[in-house]
Amino acid sequence: MSLFLKKSDEPNRPREECGIFSIYGHKDASRVAFFGLFALQHRGQESAGIVSSDGYQVWEHKGMGLVAEVFKEETFQKLPGQLAIGHVRYSTTGSSTLSNAQPFLVHFADDYYALAHNGNILNAHKLRKELEDSGSIFQTTMDSEVIIHLMTHHLKHGLEKALVAALSRLEGAYCLIMLTRDKIIAARDPRGFRPLSLGKLNDSWVVASETCAFDLIGAKYIRDVEPGEILVIDHKGVRCINPFPAIKNSHCIFELIYFARPDSQVFGQNVYLCRKRLGHELTREYKPKVDFIMPFPDSGVYAALGYAEESGLAFEMGMIRNHYIGRTFIQPSQSMRDFGVSVKLNPVKPLLENKKVLIVEDSIIRGTTSRNRVKNLRKIGVKELHMAISCPPTIYPCPYGIDFSTKGELIAAKLENEKNIADFIGLDSIHYLTIEGMIKATRLKKDCFCLACYNGNYPLAPPEKINKFCMEMKQGIH
Ligand code: SF4
Repeated sequence: MSLFLKKSDEPNRPREECGIFSIYGHKDASRVAFFGLFALQHRGQESAGIVSSDGYQVWEHKGMGLVAEVFKEETFQKLPGQLAIGHVRYSTTGSSTLSNAQPFLVHFADDYYALAHNGNILNAHKLRKELEDSGSIFQTTMDSEVIIHLMTHHLKHGLEKALVAALSRLEGAYCLIMLTRDKIIAARDPRGFRPLSLGKLNDSWVVASETCAFDLIGAKYIRDVEPGEILVIDHKGVRCINPFPAIKNSHCIFELIYFARPDSQVFGQNVYLCRKRLGHELTREYKPKVDFIMPFPDSGVYAALGYAEESGLAFEMGMIRNHYIGRTFIQPSQSMRDFGVSVKLNPVKPLLENKKVLIVEDSIIRGTTSRNRVKNLRKIGVKELHMAISCPPTIYPCPYGIDFSTKGELIAAKLENEKNIADFIGLDSIHYLTIEGMIKATRLKKDCFCLACYNGNYPLAPPEKINKFCMEMKQGIH
């Protein structure tokens, strides 16, 4: 039986948590926000939303699906104003439902507060219980809603103090953007897990998860929002508040390796060039005798280009990607299983037949996608297959908003050594880049990163059990 599946594009690849965007002081703010979200689509494909304000009234539009599916030309007539914030979501806490789509908008004490959040709040469950015990009524099962409730408890002291009070209770990773009738506020957690940048489009201020959003709308990158910093943007311009004591940064290194778009500037580094340098480092660590190297497009392309550049080996596109697979496609039936493997990537048989090949990949999480692809390559007669991964083995789950939350899902944790992993995937050999090689490629200091999924050193103690549905368990949804 054929079924329409959601997110069938690469079901075994890690998924990003969310993308956020804001613009202050533009006559067509919601339309600009749409384009900003369009550039950030890779950070979340489950739902999208925009909230706008003209200084008096606030409007919202949210929907399930991709940005281009949720917003139509007529939508922008219903989102007037010079201020707008937007969000694209992949659920890391709470189900993928319309009620959990963001921005999350509330009307409280004669003002509006809309919140767009990227990250994971580790103590959200505990805070929610505390808030519910004191009378708060929650509308969603997202960790993000906790921030709004905490804030409303302190609003009598003013918005900024209320936000500082709310943020000081949070443990975890967050970048957030908030809209009121006449202000936009952006904040980044004190460890700076996720990227957040400030830009300018003529006289309008923009904030986005990644700088690729600035390029698309023609905005100029000004600087990163600093870890622990809060920016207040209103008619007076941009004001910075630094209410928290400085602590060691914990930038998510996986943003540079896999998540962020290669045309973005993340943690001060161009992602494309950083991925090429990861390929350079791989060459220094591992050089099997092969005829050429190839990536699994698109993820491994940049590290593979770097590997080819440094090693002098030929770079070939041994597998061709079908670019026209949408967010959904019809899953082949059981009897058509082999046909299904080639739906997205099809090998170039005359190029590969009887050859020794090195595949360069950016990461392996569960290993099943790679295994299927390798099986397909073996079938057409590739002589030897080796694989180089441009990061170390992922052996610990991520509690900070990335969707590989249990150790049991991670192939490198289950099979322990490279020989076992190579056997499972069907390779002649495999090599993972060392932590030292990876850090060298970033050109940043090791201690500014979170490396927890590689070395188990969690900058913030994770909850005993990581479960994206933790806010729903007692309601019996899962
Ligand atoms: S655990 Fe890994 S994926 Fe999660 S924030 Fe740290 S480096 Fe990033």
